[in-house]
Amino acid sequence: MVYENPDGIMIGLEIHVQLNKANTKMFCGCTTDYTDKEANTCVCPGCMALPGTTPVLNEKTVDGAIKIGLALNAEIENETDFFLKNYFYPDIGNGYQVTQFDKPIIKNGHIMIEGEDGELKIRIKRAHMENDPGKMAHFGSIEKSTGSIIDFNRSGMPLVEIVTEPDIRSSKEARRFLDKLRSILEYLDVFDGSREGAMKADANISVNIFNGKRIEGTRVEIKNISSHKAVEKAINYEIMRQKDFLRKNKPLVQETRHYDEDRNVTVSLRVKETADDYRYFPDFDLVPMVVGGRVEGIRATLPELPDAKRERFVKTYGISDAHAKSLVTERAFADLFENVAAAVDPKIAASWTADIVKGELNYRDMPVTSVSAEDILAVIGMVSKKEISEESGVLVIRTLLDEGGKPTEIVSAKGLAMVADDFIVTAAKEAIAESPDAVADYKAGTEKALNFIVGKVMQKAKGKADARLAREMVLKELEKM
Ligand SMILES: [Zn+2]
Repeated sequence: MVYENPDGIMIGLEIHVQLNKANTKMFCGCTTDYTDKEANTCVCPGCMALPGTTPVLNEKTVDGAIKIGLALNAEIENETDFFLKNYFYPDIGNGYQVTQFDKPIIKNGHIMIEGEDGELKIRIKRAHMENDPGKMAHFGSIEKSTGSIIDFNRSGMPLVEIVTEPDIRSSKEARRFLDKLRSILEYLDVFDGSREGAMKADANISVNIFNGKRIEGTRVEIKNISSHKAVEKAINYEIMRQKDFLRKNKPLVQETRHYDEDRNVTVSLRVKETADDYRYFPDFDLVPMVVGGRVEGIRATLPELPDAKRERFVKTYGISDAHAKSLVTERAFADLFENVAAAVDPKIAASWTADIVKGELNYRDMPVTSVSAEDILAVIGMVSKKEISEESGVLVIRTLLDEGGKPTEIVSAKGLAMVADDFIVTAAKEAIAESPDAVADYKAGTEKALNFIVGKVMQKAKGKADARLAREMVLKELEKM
């Protein structure tokens, strides 16, 4: 099946990624871990842009950017430099942002995503380094605020801004791109996506087919969308709005819009600014940067990335591609699977970790570290020895996450140990005796009637029987009749 893209949707994304694992800010020694810190306590004269301070580039930031470039299959620019992007805003002390202009450190890369119709290559046009401004905080709600204060803790946080070509054709593909990008960045250990403001996206959207004819679409940019889900919703709204304008023959303007998450609408912010408005000029405090020699050394330190890991899992462990895909989204989770798979049949390991453990963790929004390979192995061990049923195994995992404890303790505390085989035989006989109608139906060829009898056996065993065994026993007893 080929995806037709009937509205000729073209979407390009610009993603601002904080290198929040770089430890120190881009041009000073202040910490980048200001989560839960009091306002203006992670600052120095440099990142507050006081007069007379000069920037000193943090090497680790550059290495982080190179790592990202290599993981995005991109070219790394050998000689690159920094520019000033001038604009006024209260949270930017010196009236400019340090960024890169015509020679970004990263260009011409790509990543593969699951598109509407199979594997899709999304090209990365460029990615450049820049720093984050501070943050405004308002007393009360923004509309009724009696005043605003500025927190400079974020000021100077190193960022990489990644710009894609408009290869994305739907909101779903945009979300998958962001999920994949986040996964890759976390593998690289340069980025922690769970911190506030870690990743923000701007989306450029145009509708290029109307009434079955190709048209010159109008590119509208939606700024600063903070979650992957919101990106998907904002794009859906914007496509609908543009199509509606085209139908009503209303003119579309090339502009920047804001996505209001509460109302699920985009609203006009301003007519799109051009590069000229920012009066870019070279940052004379920073000399041009030559990265050449560092690149190969950094390449050698790159970890195995999600796509490669997925391929290896299928090949080495013989598990399904769907399981492999689910296991590799997070590096720590892939490691957890490998630790389990080292001790039991990898297919069983995959179904317990990918289908059960992952689901239970996601449901509770808990990190991978909440469960250990030993605990999962203990559960798998008890299930395979038929000491507990599969259902009880799942219950043990749930209890473990909710209340803590060890699997064997949970099994005895909750009385989950499976009942003996002779109990099931007796229960099967009883269930048959109590269900003459179901037995008659089954004998008359209604297969479903069997489920009713087996259900009764399970009820008698209070769920502590192996359902397959119960079924076998019931069948055996029925054959005797
Ligand atoms: Zn500082």
